[in-house]
Amino acid sequence: MLGSMMTMPLLISSLLRHAERHHGEQEIVSRRVEGDLHRTTYRQLAARSRRLAKALARRGMKASDRIATLAWNGYRHLELYYAVSGAGGILHTINPRLHPDQVVYLADHAEDGVLFFDLSFLPLVENIATRVKTIKAFVALADRAQMPAQSSIPGLECYEDWIAGSDDDFAWPSFDENSAAALCYTSGTTGNPKGVLYSHRSTLLYAYASALPDSFNLSASDSILPVVPMFHVNAWGLPYSACLTGARLVFPGPALDGKSLYELIEAEKVSFAAGVPTIWQGLLTHLEQNAARFSTLKRTIIGGAACPPAMIEKFEKTHGVHVIHGWGMTETSPCVTAGSFKAKHQALTDDQRLTLQAKQGRVLPGVDIKVVAPEGGELPWDGDSSGELLVKGHWVLSRYFREEGSGPLIDGWFPTGDVANIDADGYMHITDRSKDVIKSGGEWIGSVDLENIAMGHPAVAMAACIAARHPKWDERPLLVVVKKPGHEVSREELLGFYEGRIPKWWTPDDVVFVDSIPLGATGKMQKNKLREQFADYRLPTV
Ligand code: AMP
Repeated sequence: MLGSMMTMPLLISSLLRHAERHHGEQEIVSRRVEGDLHRTTYRQLAARSRRLAKALARRGMKASDRIATLAWNGYRHLELYYAVSGAGGILHTINPRLHPDQVVYLADHAEDGVLFFDLSFLPLVENIATRVKTIKAFVALADRAQMPAQSSIPGLECYEDWIAGSDDDFAWPSFDENSAAALCYTSGTTGNPKGVLYSHRSTLLYAYASALPDSFNLSASDSILPVVPMFHVNAWGLPYSACLTGARLVFPGPALDGKSLYELIEAEKVSFAAGVPTIWQGLLTHLEQNAARFSTLKRTIIGGAACPPAMIEKFEKTHGVHVIHGWGMTETSPCVTAGSFKAKHQALTDDQRLTLQAKQGRVLPGVDIKVVAPEGGELPWDGDSSGELLVKGHWVLSRYFREEGSGPLIDGWFPTGDVANIDADGYMHITDRSKDVIKSGGEWIGSVDLENIAMGHPAVAMAACIAARHPKWDERPLLVVVKKPGHEVSREELLGFYEGRIPKWWTPDDVVFVDSIPLGATGKMQKNKLREQFADYRLPTV
């Protein structure tokens, strides 16, 4: 017997309809490419999204057509999120930090029909415009006054003209909630990037779960700053969960340096911010150098790479900002785990709380995790047994876009390529990427722990730990360090810093100081490049 409740498809347009009806006055603030602050509301967002959807339909957009963006976080990008998906199209957010050849590859692979872009990316679009095969229209996210006087882009169009050319008399269509809504490609450190197609259903279920108190804890009283880009896994779903909860949105646009972010947080009374550790490092350095403090920021979710415990401590103890450490991947929408406490943790000391927060947290309801041994058997939840992390759930990928063959799943679970352990309370701790693991005499050494400890040294700005060849042990850890400007530290002092913090045999064999560590398009350290750079490195023999 079926239940007798109403059945409505879980569609992205329903989030916008809710925000318009129940939080119509709520503000959306955006720092624009032009440098000014723009203010709008959910009511205007909904109306302009309908106009844009109508304009897209007039230009022939059909269900499942791919519409690409090269854009910062801002209100026009948000309009595209809702207009394209709401009308049945698929929003393909391209990472503008990729090499132009990769952008061409992605646009061709996705068969994008229209490209909307911020004017900061005009040179990139000029580079690719005649090389991409399927894009028929190039639209600059600008008004007429800002349009370039000259450009080599064929038939360059103006976004505000598109909006002005339609009225908002448009009804969001209803369709199968399993239809694709958005497309993101993995960063592809090995081989070509792979496409992940999010559905309306996966997006809505993720939005509900990520807003929960033990996840991001979002509400209509929040003022949210998504610093994580809207071209990186949909800014961790915040454009959707903000509409769901009616939270105020503050977008940083292109200004991601510490000073600009701090000023925006203060001026716009931001209560919750989301970002990766490399960006937060810049923010904390600005605060330190200017003896500044946050007056409204209460919480931050940090993920995308392991958050060093020293960063958690700085946010919590110096600035009174609660850190939620989250883990996820492009393939998982992205958030699978988030670090919130359980009632029993109220008794923990500050240091014990920090240790727990350095783990990547426990699952959001709707997804599940397990760690498995190389032979495939599930490992115990003892906080110690490390193996490959597998995930499954409502917002986890089952097959890559246009992938041939049987797909990546193993018995219905997605293998993440991360190495982790899980403790008795379900808190997951990432110890490594499987390809970054250091295997010394047959035993694993977790490079993330070694990096986190180095990052705790006051003179270290960034640290990466990679495997270097060793005649006896096969591999031994080599620490690659970028010093903070104006700070000095020696190899011996850094190696001594590990004493008592890890098993002695984990201590790196050597330290090299470099000016910079290569970062990928999403701000992660590219350890594969470092491994190439130090492939012939000879460790000192003792
Ligand atoms: P991406 O698909 O570009 O978001 O990259 C996903 C990968 O980033 C994961 O498989 C992890 O290796 C890494 N990652 C994301 N969040 C964390 C975290 N909190 N701690 C450690 N690694 C992380």
